Amino acid sequence: MENIFIVVVILVVFFIFVQKRLVKDESIKDSAYKRKGPLLNMQETAIYNALVSAVGVHGVVMSKVNLSNVLAPVATDKKGWFVANNRIAKSYFDFVICDPRTLEVRVAIELDNGRELDKGKVERQKLLMHVCKSANIPLIGTSIKHSYQVGRLRRLLAAHIDLIEPSKEVRFCKKCGSPMVIKVANQGDFKGRRFFTCSRQPQCTYTENYNVVFDEGEG
Ligand SMILES: [Zn+2]
Repeated sequence: MENIFIVVVILVVFFIFVQKRLVKDESIKDSAYKRKGPLLNMQETAIYNALVSAVGVHGVVMSKVNLSNVLAPVATDKKGWFVANNRIAKSYFDFVICDPRTLEVRVAIELDNGRELDKGKVERQKLLMHVCKSANIPLIGTSIKHSYQVGRLRRLLAAHIDLIEPSKEVRFCKKCGSPMVIKVANQGDFKGRRFFTCSRQPQCTYTENYNVVFDEGEG
């Protein structure tokens, strides 16, 4: 009986010893790494450069930004919070454009790689469309084909970020000839979007889209 007890004690000691060794073996230093190469692939780099040219100093382009860095779940109970958080935890925005001063996200950009729609791609698009609508972040989809057209990108982005200096672009009302001013929609489907409106409001209600006319002739 005593022998069995000793054997058990020896086994327990051995087990503890082995476990300690194994735990020790799992130290950080034992994991090796190599670089994965450029952060963006060639197609992503092309659109990144086009976006940087399009926004100039009026925006900061960031890539592969995790959804949870931009969004927070709005839930009344713990379970709902965790479910909502899990939905976004592993996804990222291809690109976001931020206000250069505050780094607040103004627009999210989804790059369509031109590949066929598969289940994963559909799910991702559904998620992005829902979260952006829910959090009121404009989402712009762009294809690789269009990514090189800086002028086109600029027109898409102009509704959401200040790409022009108001003092440099003077527009006059097509109804009454008064100077127009830039306003930001504070309600409705186009909330947050910029537009030109007649300075004689409310007497004159003429408004115009905030599309920028560029002289480079691109896009
Ligand atoms: Zn007017």
